[in-house]
Amino acid sequence: MAKLSLKNINKYYENGYSAVKNLNLEIEDKEFVVLVGPSGCGKSTTLRMIAGLEDISQGELYIGDNLVNNVEPKDRDIAMVFQNYALYPHMSVYKNMAFSLELNKVRKEQIDKRVKEAAGILGLDNLLSRKPKELSGGQRQRVALGRAIVREPKVFLMDEPLSNLDAKLRVTMRTEIAKLHKKLNTTFIYVTHDQTEAMTMGTKIVVMNNGIVQQVGSPMEIYNNPTNMFVAGFIGSPQMNFIDVQVIKKSGKIFGRIQENDFQFSEDKGEQLKKEGYVDKTIKLGVRPEHIHLIESVKEKQEHYIVMEAEIMLVEFLGAETYLHLKLKEYNVIAKIAVDIELKVGDKVKVAVDNGYIHGFDSETQNVIF
Ligand code: ADP
Repeated sequence: MAKLSLKNINKYYENGYSAVKNLNLEIEDKEFVVLVGPSGCGKSTTLRMIAGLEDISQGELYIGDNLVNNVEPKDRDIAMVFQNYALYPHMSVYKNMAFSLELNKVRKEQIDKRVKEAAGILGLDNLLSRKPKELSGGQRQRVALGRAIVREPKVFLMDEPLSNLDAKLRVTMRTEIAKLHKKLNTTFIYVTHDQTEAMTMGTKIVVMNNGIVQQVGSPMEIYNNPTNMFVAGFIGSPQMNFIDVQVIKKSGKIFGRIQENDFQFSEDKGEQLKKEGYVDKTIKLGVRPEHIHLIESVKEKQEHYIVMEAEIMLVEFLGAETYLHLKLKEYNVIAKIAVDIELKVGDKVKVAVDNGYIHGFDSETQNVIF
């Protein structure tokens, strides 16, 4: 069993900097957990504390039932794959993978079996006698993974392992690592600043900012129900649009006013806004680009939509979809649409925002209302 528990973990660096604050996280056996957030948010520090490469200033780390705060990295039964894969240049692929086992005095036949098995899993069978400089970037990254696999660890830790690869290879390796997780059936903890990697690979995503965990959940939970504006804006591409909306009450019903444009909130959202004291206040409305449509493409009853005029500022045609950069009142928003009509900069269009998919956030705390 390789369940991990992080309880009230804090990290203060020697200069007093507080890099991780009161982190609580349960990682179940065989999960693929992705720590994601902007650069400097404390992801690597967290991973390095799990690996034992960094002291834990405060709090408790359990692997299985064992408190491991003071257990040496080599005794934690984990293996780490880094961004710069740090292969030994003078050793063959075989030797690179065998090396740590040799150091640990594993029997020769056992080493041979494990290296060949790992090479089979990673498609490296024909490259075992090559030196790292005779390999492509993707192949080197696979050797780095192989070095971790042969150790048969309970937990794999990966720190931005794909960031040195070109865009196309990154996409391929992303799938390979996800498949590898299924094959090995062990716990993976993966650090990235790239929300697409997090969304596509993780079974559980931990979004961090400023050393603080913002939200933990499945990719779908995080995408559909972000707990605050940071998570809402960080996960999803192009990012969620935010618009100021004044909440008003007219003949008992709750409306939103975007400048002089009024729309009625659904009954449950209106009720909630009233109950929580948002009437006559301004909230942030969050709308994902895919929920802004051109009015022509809206077939159902239009009362389900917030309809507004907008001006096209830029058209990004991407093939399967188009990003429309729009001026909507004083706001710059992006709509993601499947386009089958000619659109050009300067055109005035009517857009329809799907009322069922809007998010509301408190303007001050930035926490979700609905
Ligand atoms: P991430 O992996 O999310 O980019 P890190 O965990 O590497 O972030 O770093 C978190 C914060 O801690 C950053 O602000 C970084 O500058 C700081 N930091 C990292 N290592 C040290 C160190 N050895 N001493 C002081 N501050 C550090």
